[in-house]
Amino acid sequence: MTTSAPPVSLSGVPVVGGVRYAPVIRPGRAPALDLAGLPEVPEDARAAEAVRFDAAAAAVADRLRDRAAHATGVAAEVLAATAQLAQDKAWLAAARKRIAVGDPAERATHQAVAQFADLFTKMGGLMAERVTDLQDIRDRVTAELRGLPEPGVPVPSTPSILCAEDLAPADTAGLDPALVVGLATTLGGPTSHTAIIARQLGIPCVVAIAGLDDIAAGALVLIDGTRGTLLVDPDPAQAAAEVARADEAAAATAGWSGPGVTADGRRVEVLANVQDGAAARLAAETPAEGVGLFRTELCFLNRETEPSVQEQAQIYGEVLAAFPGRKVVIRTLDAGSDKPLKFAGHPDEANPALGVRGIRIAFGNPGLLERQLAGIAQAARDTGSAPWVMAPMIATPAEARDFAEQARAHGLKPGVMIEIPAAALLAGRVLEHVDFLSIGTNDLAQYTMAADRMSAELAALTDPWQPGVLTLVAATAAAGAAAGKPVGVCGEAAADPLLACVLTGMGVTSLSCASAAVRAVGARLSTVTLAQCREAADAVLGVASATEAREAASAVLLG
Ligand code: PEP
Ligand code: MG
Repeated sequence: MTTSAPPVSLSGVPVVGGVRYAPVIRPGRAPALDLAGLPEVPEDARAAEAVRFDAAAAAVADRLRDRAAHATGVAAEVLAATAQLAQDKAWLAAARKRIAVGDPAERATHQAVAQFADLFTKMGGLMAERVTDLQDIRDRVTAELRGLPEPGVPVPSTPSILCAEDLAPADTAGLDPALVVGLATTLGGPTSHTAIIARQLGIPCVVAIAGLDDIAAGALVLIDGTRGTLLVDPDPAQAAAEVARADEAAAATAGWSGPGVTADGRRVEVLANVQDGAAARLAAETPAEGVGLFRTELCFLNRETEPSVQEQAQIYGEVLAAFPGRKVVIRTLDAGSDKPLKFAGHPDEANPALGVRGIRIAFGNPGLLERQLAGIAQAARDTGSAPWVMAPMIATPAEARDFAEQARAHGLKPGVMIEIPAAALLAGRVLEHVDFLSIGTNDLAQYTMAADRMSAELAALTDPWQPGVLTLVAATAAAGAAAGKPVGVCGEAAADPLLACVLTGMGVTSLSCASAAVRAVGARLSTVTLAQCREAADAVLGVASATEAREAASAVLLG
């Protein structure tokens, strides 16, 4: 008797829920060239070589712009930003300079990109994230120069699951969700470009999967974006049944219309995270009951100078106006680290994630916070709203006390974010000073696990299912319950429907997530009882790893 080997099962970090069964496709490789072996361009041909280079860079930018024009939302923005980078004067000039001394265009392209990639990496944060974009442009320009097909994702003829080491933003942004029905990458964290676009397009997605490189194009795989697994060559009937079950659950999700409540009637507000008036208006089209996190710093990333109180009032007022009479939580500027603001006067720091960021900016520049609170108070008066206001990166009860005094002086209801383990451990004492807490699980995971949230290599450590992180979340929620004050979660953890149920079991009173996740979170919550949520919460606190925590919660909540 022969027995076939059980299907290979790989696991990673789940990003977008849903189950799909389809063949694997892989992106085309960058053109391989012996750069050092390319001959020097004779002096009289260098001007023509520069023209050839300019034409190739322009063709790549044009194609990206064209794809941007046919895309929407974040996808369009990502494509337009990559197109802009392809025409960035600084790297083009660096390449031309090399051509002028005899380098052929292909070598000049690689050398100029290497120079800027190095610079961006040293700058860290968001700039470092742009290195993938630059390298993507390098490969596209090289292919254009050589007359080769553009590297990147092939357009499949049947629905397929795209497996890659990592994906360039321009590739992910151009995906057709009818043909690319699943996404799996070896690198990339839950906050990577791949993850952001997958969320917008609603494509089931798992990142940081070890062993993915061994799966050949054409292999049949079952991707489960809820559990974070990829099964190679599963039993076809079983795979089809799992897809059908997930599709039924998705249909129930689409029909969810709020408000947030468990099957047995426990109310939990389901709120949206927004960054400006436009995003708030989009959120208002979902069943979100209000805004749990308005990231104000994102309104000003490109500003050279501080916006006036009046201008701030107008910007904040747009968000308040999108949710009249509803809860809106405005976060004061969380500038610094990966979100530097030019006008905040950041010091030069070796370790900006542990430096002067968030509320700490106000220590040396108290006027900045004071003027922002004045702008928020003005917006509240203009729109007849009563927004809640919270400070990011609070480390001590004394910081919470000072912020609360200042906010109350403007007639605003004060709260703080719990993102630093010290504040979570002393949540009870922090709550003596403020009216509510909001747990930022992205930074809480980063600081609890001592792992950079931007690092793809460390994505498994910054997973919010880490029992160490969840222990601090549970302690914070318990402190809120003891004080009779609301404790919400507004980090990515709240966007994971399963984890949202666990957080509810811990006693969290609101869940704030990206608009795209609102329905999935609310729908899942409506299928479970508070007793199940509590059992799942107890279960995740009793295990030793994120994988075990997910499994334990799934066993209780998914049956
Ligand atoms: C968080 O840290 O979880 C959070 C919500 O804040 P941000 O992601 O903006 O740092
Ligand atoms: Mg944060």
